Formats: sequence, structure tokens, C-alpha cells
Amino acid sequence: MPHPDAPPLPENEAQRLQALRRYDILDTPPEQAFDDLSMLARLVCDTPTALINLIDDERQWTKSAVGAEVSELPRSLSLCAHAILQPDVLMEVPDALADPRFAHNPMVTREGGLRFYAGVPLVTAEGHALGSLCVIDVRPRRLDDAQREALRALGRQVVTQLELRRLARWFQTQSTVDELTQVWNRRAFDQRLADEWARHGRRTEPLGLLMIDVDHFKRYNDELGHPAGDRVLSEVASVVGDALRGTDHLSRYGGEEFVAILPTTGVNGAMPVAQRVRQAVERHAWQPRGVTVSVGLASLVPAKDVPAQQLLERADHALLLAKRRGRNRVEAFAGWQPL
Ligand code: GH3
Ligand code: MG
Ligand code: MG
Repeated sequence: MPHPDAPPLPENEAQRLQALRRYDILDTPPEQAFDDLSMLARLVCDTPTALINLIDDERQWTKSAVGAEVSELPRSLSLCAHAILQPDVLMEVPDALADPRFAHNPMVTREGGLRFYAGVPLVTAEGHALGSLCVIDVRPRRLDDAQREALRALGRQVVTQLELRRLARWFQTQSTVDELTQVWNRRAFDQRLADEWARHGRRTEPLGLLMIDVDHFKRYNDELGHPAGDRVLSEVASVVGDALRGTDHLSRYGGEEFVAILPTTGVNGAMPVAQRVRQAVERHAWQPRGVTVSVGLASLVPAKDVPAQQLLERADHALLLAKRRGRNRVEAFAGWQPL
């Protein structure tokens, strides 16, 4: 049962919520860029409080609050949920007690409750009002024209910040995730290996690494075509990812080679993981023909003056051994051996 005074829903509510989700912003920590804008809104409008509120399915969630401590509120009590009903209009409520929509709202009627509200809807380029930038006061009042103009301008800046934030996140993903397989790419791997190498060195803990290479993949491509080969690569990534542990870090090293970083794992701990990976691929229901991988394994406690490259070269050497010894098998590095 909706609350008797609950705000009606916008016409395009389902699409509006979808648009809001795309910003990935709900339940994120405060950010300076948004706090700066609400601080400016409070200053120009000369109110004790300014908020950036987003209207979720059943709640109002606050991205930024100056002069108040709120994080969320049921949607039925939200004034901003009314403001978004008219995306083009700055909603001004000079005295909430005198407004039938809000006269019974506990946010208004409670001791020290709000009396004045002005909110500018945060409207995306496609026309969805995600929430509002609002200023509130505990006494009735009005904004002047200049303040309204400034509040509208700040509202547009909030939307700009939302867009910039989304773009930055998109670029971040694009630059670290492999498009075909959706696992980390080489750049992300290099960075992660350097980080883990330094961290394990400080703690003198072993860092494990698996080099995973699809067997006879050239033949697969030659006989079944590259598009089919691409599908195999993407499926191998998913099967291998499922066989690894939550703390392991899987990347596409290049071509049909994958590499997994195994934090705090010596050879004895890495061996069962490598075997599980090999087995999972072998047992997967491949069509039209089976696919297998060979795995080279190495582990090192990082020492001063030893580059992380050492670990990679050892795992690669073990991988070559696995290939020489018949493929679809795991070899652990145990010294440099003539190949
Ligand atoms: P081995 O068992 O010794 O690893 O044999 P292989 O045929 O897998 O090894 P090789 O390195 O000779 O061939 C790797 C092949 O992987 C060559 C290339 O056509 C294929 N390959 C690399 N990247 C991609 C890709 O993104 N998509 C597809 N479809 N094939 C790729
Ligand atoms: Mg290869
Ligand atoms: Mg191969």
C-alpha cells in the first residue's frame, strides 16, 4: 500500500531508474566535487542546508549533504521525489506547512522540521530527472531571481559531474579489461604483478603465477575458423576464472595465453589450483571438439634486486616443459632445464 501522501511516479519511471543505475553512483562514498556544488548552493541561497538527492525505486539517497546528516529516506517522505515530476521546473515550496502535499509529512511536522524547500531537478541529456539539488531551511522564505538562476546553473553542474564520473569509470574499464574475454588485460596484469611483487617482498611471502596456454590452437583456428576460435578463448577465460580462487587475478597475457597471479601461494598451494584449471577446461562441454590447456607454474618469495620478470620467465619455462611433455598437463618450475 503506498503512503497516502506518497509522490506519484514519473511517467517514464522504469527507464528513469535504468538511467540512474547506469551512473553506478548509489551507495558510493561522498565525493568532493559534489560536496563543493552543494556547498555553493547553500552559500548562494543562504540556507542552512543543501543536498544532492537521487530518487531510487523506494528511497531517496543522498550523494552530498552540507548542513545536515542524512543518507537516505523513504521515497514517500521525499520532497525531491515531487521535484522530479516536472523536470524543467525548479520546485519552490515557500512554506511546507501551508502546502497540502507536505503539511502532514513528518520531515515537516517534526520538531525543527523543514519549512522551506527549493529543488532543481537533475536532468540527463535524454531527459531523465535522476534527483535534485535542493536547499532547505527551517523557516518559511523565498529565493530571489538571481538565487534561482544560480541554483539552476549549479544543478546543471551536478549533472556534468555525474557524466564526467561515468566517463572516467568507462575509460578505466576500457583500459584494463580485455574486450574479447572480459578478463583483465596485459596492462592490468603488469600493474598488478608489480604491486603484488612489492607487497609480497615486504611481507616475505611467496607469490604464485600460472601461465596457461591453449593447446594446438592454431590448428583449431585453421580448421574451424577464427570466429569459432574467438568463442573458445572467451569460454576458456570463463572456465579458468571459475576454477580459480576468489583472491586470484586472471588476465589475458596475449593471443591464446592467460596468466593468473596467485597471492600468498607457494608451489604446493598452487599445484592443486593449476590442476583444477587444467581439469576444468578438459571436462568442459566443448562443441564441436575438445579443448585443453597446458599450465606452467612458478612461485617465488620476491627478493631485493630480483625483478618480477623472473617469476614470469620461470612460469613460462615450466609451460614449455608442459608442452614438450605432451600438453594438457601442469608443470612446476624446478630449475632451468634444457628444452
Ligand atoms: P601449442 O599447443 O604449442 O600452444 O600450439 P598453438 O597452435 O596453440 O600455438 P601457436 O602459438 O603456434 O598458435 C597460437 C595461435 O593462437 C595462433 C593464432 O592464430 C591464435 N590466436 C592468437 N590470438 C587469437 C585471437 O584473438 N583469436 C583467435 N581466434 N585466435 C588467436
Ligand atoms: Mg601460445
Ligand atoms: Mg597454444
